[in-house]
Amino acid sequence: MKQPSVLVVEDEPAIAELIAVNLRHNGFQPTVAPDSMTAQREIDAVLPDVVLLDWMLPGESGLALARRWRNDARTKGVPIIMLTARGDEADRVAGLDAGADDYMAKPFSTKEMLARIRAVLRRRAPEQSNVTLEIGALKLDTATHRVSYNDQMLKLGPTEFKLLQYLMSHAERVHSRGQLLDKVWGDHVFIEERTVDVHIKRLREALGDAAAMVETVRGAGYRLTAQVAATARG
Ligand code: CA
Repeated sequence: MKQPSVLVVEDEPAIAELIAVNLRHNGFQPTVAPDSMTAQREIDAVLPDVVLLDWMLPGESGLALARRWRNDARTKGVPIIMLTARGDEADRVAGLDAGADDYMAKPFSTKEMLARIRAVLRRRAPEQSNVTLEIGALKLDTATHRVSYNDQMLKLGPTEFKLLQYLMSHAERVHSRGQLLDKVWGDHVFIEERTVDVHIKRLREALGDAAAMVETVRGAGYRLTAQVAATARG
């Protein structure tokens, strides 16, 4: 497994170095940024798995930075742990309101830091890490990238796989073409909505007997449902 990357935004060199050394020692890949401008540059270049963000920074505060990253579609999913000398509840609430996932008051032990980092990684994991999705007889394994129906392997292209993964993660709900474009194709790609129809068609072809599970909801979009499979068989 790849080592999780941690962006450490901390202006005090001694503290930043100590955190970085301890992270490296424990299987993480730290990058240190001493101010918000450097931090922004780092996050623009590579999305880290976790951010440790000092509240008090020269120039723009960690709090403002957290708020900005939360409002940016590209960075909003990155877990943020705020670091601060302040320990009172009002500050803690302000940090969490700004979009931080967790909060650590200085000084903290390496043990506490690692525990909190692992906790936010675990909490964020469902979307990224390995899961098996099962709807009726349809199974999708994100680790092996395999899809099967009634234990028969199906062959899907990468986009159809992502599309199916999204639909199975949010089964029984109707998704508009625009929503699917946003969630499956991502926010940096500009494509037409009818592209979704093309991939839905390919997905149905690949699904074979399970094709009916992908329903067209007129005027609304698409839905993956277990209900159809049940009635078709029963
Ligand atoms: Ca500071």
